[in-house]
Order: sequence, then structure tokens, then C-alpha cells
Amino acid sequence: MSFMNMTVVRGDITTRAVDAIVNAANASLLGGGGVDGAIHRAAGPELLRACRLLHGCPTGSAKATPGFRLAARWIFHAVGPVWSGGTRGEAEKLAGCYRACLELAHQHGLRSIAFPALSTGIYKYPRRQAAEIAVRTCRTFGHSLERIEFVCFDEETAAIYRSLLARSLLAPEREQAAL
Ligand code: ADP
Repeated sequence: MSFMNMTVVRGDITTRAVDAIVNAANASLLGGGGVDGAIHRAAGPELLRACRLLHGCPTGSAKATPGFRLAARWIFHAVGPVWSGGTRGEAEKLAGCYRACLELAHQHGLRSIAFPALSTGIYKYPRRQAAEIAVRTCRTFGHSLERIEFVCFDEETAAIYRSLLARSLLAPEREQAAL
């Protein structure tokens, strides 16, 4: 399922042959579980050395490293919010992650980027709300890219993204207002 330059991919983000993949990092940028662990394993030990030089990253933002052993040239390490009920600015911080990555892509003149479902694993952000923020922010700020992939590890998340993109396809303007 695709809409504009956005497409849903089911699978492992570490295998994507795009210009940049996005990591769901924590504020230390020193590695963790989930997709972060998978990316560090696939990129190799040089990645941790590069991350150490960045001295962390605030929540709602992102920092870049090379992709090392990955097919992707870049990794953008985004620090999503931990869900704590939705009243602590989680939505703005999550949108900030997507926006920061799109800005990095634009600055580096990239054509393609792959996002995981940031914050929806260990950080417990509700999947549908998170996907709405991802699609809305990419639609608003992702025009310079030819291809934006939402890489979903599980079928439930993929189905949510597919339905959001299908809705956009059916009624793009109305959906844009509603999202
Ligand atoms: P966070 O701490 O931001 O919640 P997680 O890594 O725990 O990050 O989870 C974020 C999302 O990434 C979840 O939907 C999880 O299922 C998914 N995920 C985990 N491993 C991978 C992978 N190798 N490729 C793509 N998505 C992944």
C-alpha cells in the first residue's frame, strides 16, 4: 500500500536498501533493545564508537551516523518519548522525531528513508496514534524525498499503516484535514 511517496513494508529495517534508516534510540545513544539492538548488531561495532562521539540526544530529536555495514548509507538515531498517558507532550515529541529525521534527510540531499514505528515497542506509545503522527508529519515535511518507507515488524502495525494510507488515497484532502 502506497500513498504519495509513502509506502508500508513488513519486515526488518536493518535490511532496507535506502539512503537512511531511522533508529528508535534512547537518549544516551549507547544502544538498547528492540530495533536499536538489531541495528547495532547489523551495523557492527563501529556504530557504537560513532554514537559515543555524539554525547546523547534530547527526546524529540535525532542525530546522524554513517550506516557502516548496513546497506543504508546513514542511520538517523531518533529519541522518541516514553508513553505516560499522553499529557506530557508525547505527541509533539514523537512528531519532532519524524520531523528531525526528514530535515536531516533534506540537509544531506537524500532520496529515500525508512522509519520503524518509533516509541511503540518498549516505550509503549499506542500504535494507531503513533502511526497517525508518523503519516501526518511525513506528509507535511517529507516532500523532498522520493520514497518514505514505514517498516513494520509485526502484522498489526503494518495493517494500521496500510489503513491510514488507504484512507489518504480515497480522500486525500479530507484526510489531511482530519489527521
Ligand atoms: P521504542 O523504545 O522506541 O519503543 P522499540 O525498538 O522497542 O523502540 O520498538 C519500536 C518498534 O520497532 C516496535 O514496533 C517494534 O516491534 C519494532 N521493531 C523491533 N525490531 C525491529 C526491526 N528489526 N525492524 C523494524 N522494526 C522493528
